[in-house]
Amino acid sequence: MLRFRQLVIDIARRFLLRALALLSFAALLQCAPAPSPRAAAPPPPAGGRAVLVSFDGVAGERLEAMLDDPAKLPAGAFRRLAARGFHAVRSVPPTPSLTAVSHITHVTGGLPDVTGIVANTMLDPTKPFGTTISGFFAPIRAETLWQAARRQGRRVGVMLYPGADGNGPGRTADWMMTWPGDPLAPGRLWTLPRSAWKPATPGGAKFQSFSLVAQTTVAFGETTHLVVLQVADTTDDGRVNYDRLLVLPEMGERREVRVGDWFPVEVPSSDGRTGAWCKLLSLAPDLGVAEIYLGPLSRTTGVPREWVRRLDEEIGFWPGMPDTDAFGENSARPEVFLEQTERLVEFLTRADLLAISRSDWDLLLLYQPEVDETSHEFLLVDPGQSRYTPERAARFLGFVEKSYALADRSLDAIEKALGPSDTLFVTSDHGMTPIFAEIAVNSILREAGLLNVDAKNEPAPSSPVIAVTSSGIAHIYRNRNAPPSTLDRAERVLRDFRVGGKSPFDRIVRREAAGDLGLNAPESGDLVVLALPGFQFTWTADGDPVRPPHSYGGHGYRNVHPQVDATFFAAGPGIPRERVEKIGSWQIAARVARALGIAPPRNAAPP
Ligand SMILES: [Zn+2]
Repeated sequence: MLRFRQLVIDIARRFLLRALALLSFAALLQCAPAPSPRAAAPPPPAGGRAVLVSFDGVAGERLEAMLDDPAKLPAGAFRRLAARGFHAVRSVPPTPSLTAVSHITHVTGGLPDVTGIVANTMLDPTKPFGTTISGFFAPIRAETLWQAARRQGRRVGVMLYPGADGNGPGRTADWMMTWPGDPLAPGRLWTLPRSAWKPATPGGAKFQSFSLVAQTTVAFGETTHLVVLQVADTTDDGRVNYDRLLVLPEMGERREVRVGDWFPVEVPSSDGRTGAWCKLLSLAPDLGVAEIYLGPLSRTTGVPREWVRRLDEEIGFWPGMPDTDAFGENSARPEVFLEQTERLVEFLTRADLLAISRSDWDLLLLYQPEVDETSHEFLLVDPGQSRYTPERAARFLGFVEKSYALADRSLDAIEKALGPSDTLFVTSDHGMTPIFAEIAVNSILREAGLLNVDAKNEPAPSSPVIAVTSSGIAHIYRNRNAPPSTLDRAERVLRDFRVGGKSPFDRIVRREAAGDLGLNAPESGDLVVLALPGFQFTWTADGDPVRPPHSYGGHGYRNVHPQVDATFFAAGPGIPRERVEKIGSWQIAARVARALGIAPPRNAAPP
């Protein structure tokens, strides 16, 4: 353990030098918010339609480098938009550069002190001390684009955009596909031994087999849903060599499957089409071992019901997210992660095209997660990262670039489905930086006697302080029962904390002094701690304060690190061709409103 800790410290030290170098470079460039105001483009004709697409995790700098390489992004959609409209290489996210925070800034034009969304995970002040609420579900204090548009008589459709989740009228558009949340059953990789197979029930499936047909049953998690699987030997060669799987789902057609094939399995449900994409990964001819992946059992959610039904009928069931447990960087088959990603992108693109084909919208907000998912898992780009080899890095970078190419392909279809009078905005919420180590900030506070744990070794409500963490930011809250001096002690402990002789923290600041970060908000911690890129916080209070990371890519830092900046494009009537180095993500809402011919959301920054 000590040796491991030394290893982490060595890696962190090497990395820290790099992070500090980047930081001073960023300071030189004066990458603070508030870019200089630009001349406003003439407004488009009244009644113009606008589409805002966010590709989560697209880094402006990486995209720019890929745009320069003709072999990359073969669909050419990003290149076409840059050639005919406005392109900011970097869209500066709010601090912290996190998905919920940044998307809510897009749609309100306000920073976290205006929106109330200060992190992806926040303290829930209505619950016992230390209880958290997702920043995706927490109340938004500012008016959103969908609210402003509807207030001014425009119709709004939303496909998965964060913040529009249907929880109450303020978070509901005219029609929506909403983020489905956790699947009914998570994906699971089944490794079946020979003993799992029993002779098949006679008179069952008609299956030509030259060895005894064998059968097993696998279940979808804790649900009552099952799928019956049979194996057959289709070669008349006098040997027992199984080579086919017959899938007998609870509903729908039976399928004959070979090794490597994907197959859908649907289950009956009164709540809409529900299913899982599954794959036969291996089948030993003697049944010594069979590996079958049952995908996450999922269904589409949204409003109204007729829209979900139409998506079900015309597009199919929600295919689920790529599986980081079964096919992540640490798995034997990371390429399957990309196959799942491609399926999801194809599903979302078809769903988005169906949304565009509706005639009842003026503003359409679209969201796709593929680049973020892939980059978190596979951004192995620095020799200081764990298990780095040039071969592994090259392979994984190929996955990351493939996810950008998938976004480009989807954008190509979306752009071609729009008319010449429509305005298309494309952005993302943040970039991504390689991660070297995790910091368990509650462990640091616990070691200093400032945090208590419960029976499960988790931060207890009796703690004097608790850190609520999201990637690169920790909001530290003082228990109202603890004296104010507790916060001084917590601050001192963190200021003194070192990894390899250096502080891993970029900023440690009291809430009331966090105004320059846009974080002087009642929702923020009493103390706000931002990590340097390369470190990310973990919530646990158990064990070593510095530990190896769970993923390769991360974000959620102060918005002065160019590699974590997003991207921005706009094309449509009245938008001349222009390329700038950067805009602020808080300028997007007013630009979208201008294209629609409406007043911007009430708290929006100028365009
Ligand atoms: Zn994101």
